[in-house]
Amino acid sequence: MRRVGIMGGTFDPIHMGHLSCAEMARDACALDEVLFVTAGNPNFKQDRRIAPAKERHAMVELAVQGNAAFSASDAEIGGAEVAYTADTLARLSGERPDAELFFIMGTDSLMTLAHWKNASRIAELACIICVSRPGFMPDGTVLSSLEEMGFRIKMVEAPLLDISSSQIRARVARGETVRYLVPDQVHSYLQATGLYRKERA
Ligand code: ATP
Ligand code: MG
Repeated sequence: MRRVGIMGGTFDPIHMGHLSCAEMARDACALDEVLFVTAGNPNFKQDRRIAPAKERHAMVELAVQGNAAFSASDAEIGGAEVAYTADTLARLSGERPDAELFFIMGTDSLMTLAHWKNASRIAELACIICVSRPGFMPDGTVLSSLEEMGFRIKMVEAPLLDISSSQIRARVARGETVRYLVPDQVHSYLQATGLYRKERA
């Protein structure tokens, strides 16, 4: 069986925290590849303006270029409807019957996972790899209640990177540098397009 990791996110924009999270998961769980799936119209973020999916996906494509095990997927982009993780996983497992699926997330996402749409279906379709993220430490009750729902969870301890997309957007809007917080190619993309700059909004 091919071990396939799926790293889902809004990636607004993708940053070193995402790449490190995926790489630590790949290494700890001997994944053959990791697919970065950019959310089209994220369910949890309807309250704020999000950069167009096309631009977010373009930055993901730039970011994964240097890693032979990484690739960018547009599976959740383009549809008129909100794409849910359960549906995306079902589709991927249909397309790749030889694959064992692993859904990668940070500890902040693990804390909300029980409330994701069709959570028990997600539990059936993929094993969860959860990588530590600063500020979010799931306690034993979160883990045991997820396990009762049928989730298989592998916790991966990794160096904590206190980087978030919100912080990057805010820094760019204030005219502050984000170099080395995002891959060089993404940094160049941000400079060339002016994305997240006040003047463009
Ligand atoms: P925002 O600040 O806009 O919420 P974000 O940085 O949280 O953005 P998302 O696209 O929401 O990025 O996150 C996608 C996935 O990546 C989530 O599972 C999240 O837990 C994980 N992740 C993001 N940043 C980190 C980080 N610094 N360390 C570990 N995991 C991370
Ligand atoms: Mg987030």
